[in-house]
Amino acid sequence: MLNLDQAQAEIIKQVRPATEIETIPIGQALGRFLAQPVKSRVSNPAFDNSAMDGYALTHADLVNNDFSLPLAGESRCGIVPPKLTAGHCMRIFTGAPVPGGADTVVIQENITSQKIGPGNKLSELINFPENTQPGTNIRKQGEDFKQNDLLYETGQRLQAHDLALLSTAGIDKVAVFMRPKILVIATGDELVTPGEKLKPGQIYESNRLTTILMLKEMGAEVTDGGTAADDVESVRAILANTSDYDFVITSGGVSVGDHDLVKQVFEEFGQINFWRVRIKPGKPVAFGKLGDHGHFIALPGNPVSSLVTFKLFVLPALVAWFHGSAAMTEIPVTVTGNFKRKPGRMEFLRARIFQDGENIRCQALPGQGSHMIGTLRDCNGFIKLDVESQGFSAGEQVIFVPIDKFV
Ligand code: AMP
Ligand code: MG
Repeated sequence: MLNLDQAQAEIIKQVRPATEIETIPIGQALGRFLAQPVKSRVSNPAFDNSAMDGYALTHADLVNNDFSLPLAGESRCGIVPPKLTAGHCMRIFTGAPVPGGADTVVIQENITSQKIGPGNKLSELINFPENTQPGTNIRKQGEDFKQNDLLYETGQRLQAHDLALLSTAGIDKVAVFMRPKILVIATGDELVTPGEKLKPGQIYESNRLTTILMLKEMGAEVTDGGTAADDVESVRAILANTSDYDFVITSGGVSVGDHDLVKQVFEEFGQINFWRVRIKPGKPVAFGKLGDHGHFIALPGNPVSSLVTFKLFVLPALVAWFHGSAAMTEIPVTVTGNFKRKPGRMEFLRARIFQDGENIRCQALPGQGSHMIGTLRDCNGFIKLDVESQGFSAGEQVIFVPIDKFV
């Protein structure tokens, strides 16, 4: 039986990465993975501009004129102002270009002003603080990044904030890897879709829905294959027509019970790389090749096992498809409460990280049975216990993995 890291390494080695690329507008690129490095088309800031509302001036003029300068003109956003008149200051607003000749902006809260000059030639004299430092409140051209700077490498997954950066950099389209086509099926004679009436012995299905939604979140093109009955013919009928798919993901029917047919049928159409991993929940999980270019991942049926194994195996498989690299975020944190267990498998306990006064702590939630899904309401991550761990006592440090940080 493989350990988690061996199984994940096997997946990363075996997954055939995407070969096709498409170029799409950034407005459609949320969650997609870059197929090419991206360089900035412009510098940011594009030009020296003011960080505040205030007055632009030349610091040497200020010193030579007893920290008072007459006002001449203004610089507002979107318009290049004329050069600063020597011995004067210019009104300026946040984001507006710094006029030629100016090297300093003083914020408007720090000045006083007075009217000067005769009758019809009234103008304004601005008095500045004597501690005004040269160079303040100016955002220098290119101090964030410069034109042609590398912003992203291939394999980067684009989130909304990444698209803000691309937009600022003048990028309107990006080359991304094609989405994998994925078929999702549940197996089980007992499963009924919510909305239908339950007969005795039946339960409502949940894995297929969650799997489909999590796949969509990762930018996959998902087909809902419905629920197969627990007989060889039903499963075979589905797996016989999967040559269009890059991945087939099933839930249930993968352990060693008499009705666990998925592995058996997969073996007819593909080649199994592994089918058990030393983890809890989720020991029975199978991965392999399907046909000449597809992959299959058979997740266990228990809803929590299905969720955890999705995060542990499907997410890294997708990241590998998208040429990215995956690593789970492991946060050391003090645990409240005790937990004892037999060593032998790596374990992921549903847990909650929370603010406790000045400290951050985490707790293993009550109800860890892999059939118990109610715990997910309070769960914001998992305590990860190593294979040899015998559990923990209150006050010890444990490793916490946030629920959305498995890759
Ligand atoms: P299996 O892996 O098929 O032996 O299923 C293990 C447990 O998970 C059984 O109690 C099943 O009823 C339950 N189960 C299997 N598939 C699903 C599903 N898609 N949704 C909810 N529960 C399931
Ligand atoms: Mg089953």
